Amino acid sequence: MKEQNYLDSLVGVFGHPVSENPGVIIQEAAFKDLGLNLWRFLTIDVTPGDLGDAIKGLKAFNMKGINCTIPHKIEVMKYLDDVAESAKHIGAVNTIVNEGGRLVGHNTDGQGFMIALEEAGVNPNNKNIVILGAGGAARAISVEMSLAGASKITIVNRLEDRPFGDSLMSVLKNDLKMDADYVDWTETYDVPEDADILVNATPLGLYPNIHEKPNINYDTLRRDLYVQDVIPNPAYTPFLAEAEARGCAWQSGMGMLVNQAALNIEMWTGLTPDKSLMIKAFEDAVG
Ligand code: NDP
Repeated sequence: MKEQNYLDSLVGVFGHPVSENPGVIIQEAAFKDLGLNLWRFLTIDVTPGDLGDAIKGLKAFNMKGINCTIPHKIEVMKYLDDVAESAKHIGAVNTIVNEGGRLVGHNTDGQGFMIALEEAGVNPNNKNIVILGAGGAARAISVEMSLAGASKITIVNRLEDRPFGDSLMSVLKNDLKMDADYVDWTETYDVPEDADILVNATPLGLYPNIHEKPNINYDTLRRDLYVQDVIPNPAYTPFLAEAEARGCAWQSGMGMLVNQAALNIEMWTGLTPDKSLMIKAFEDAVG
């Protein structure tokens, strides 16, 4: 007789709203390919007031782990037993691993970004970095860039968002002893001549606002500037088109997305997924 085991291994994502989160497409394609036939990725809408109960539910269901997305990445930290060092600096957790009832928080957004950079042959060590935005993605990226030895980080951010920008500055300057600058983004931004890497960490260009792009002077992009977007959908944004038109090397947010998802799978299952298959599953799903 065949072995009869119908017990599901559960992971997933808590968010609100969360219905457009593509995690399930990418992760379940990898589970299938890895032969993990009883692994399920659940997309779960959890309102902010229910987060504590949702974490209790995660433990009661013996889920292997969970991703957290907006608005839970910061709030969830108070329910965890431990938080990885880089996630502490970032101040946000996007991946939780259930280690036999002990919940440990990680931030794979920044790590996924760094692997994508490495895959593009770009090393941020001793580089001058400009990051547009000061939200969760900018925070994760700037902390990882700092830990990787960047020589300078400039955060370009809207005036209305100043408190969040100030707290990021404090992490970079005080905790990580980084040479960091803050620019109030009140007018068209000129990218400095000595910048090596430019990152769009705003949602500008994300579906459905696919024609939007950051308000920068694109004629200040030099050929030897490396340009990186965080937007995975669509992968080719107007921001990247401007960079390409000026001869810059660039990479879309797809690399970050697939690498952070691959890291999640490795943390939860101990197995290494095929990333090209995950990208294909995502592209097939979004059309
Ligand atoms: P947040 O809301 O935390 O931060 C967004 C940042 O962009 C804020 O600083 C915000 O400023 C700024 N911003 C928004 N609109 C504008 C605008 N019109 N002009 C200038 N600045 C603006 O979001 P996240 O950091 O979590 O996510 C940002 C993007 O990164 C999202 O599109 C998300 O899809 C993408 N992302 C991609 C990942 C990947 O794996 N590829 C992983 C994580 C995120 P303000 O607060 O003033 O609005």
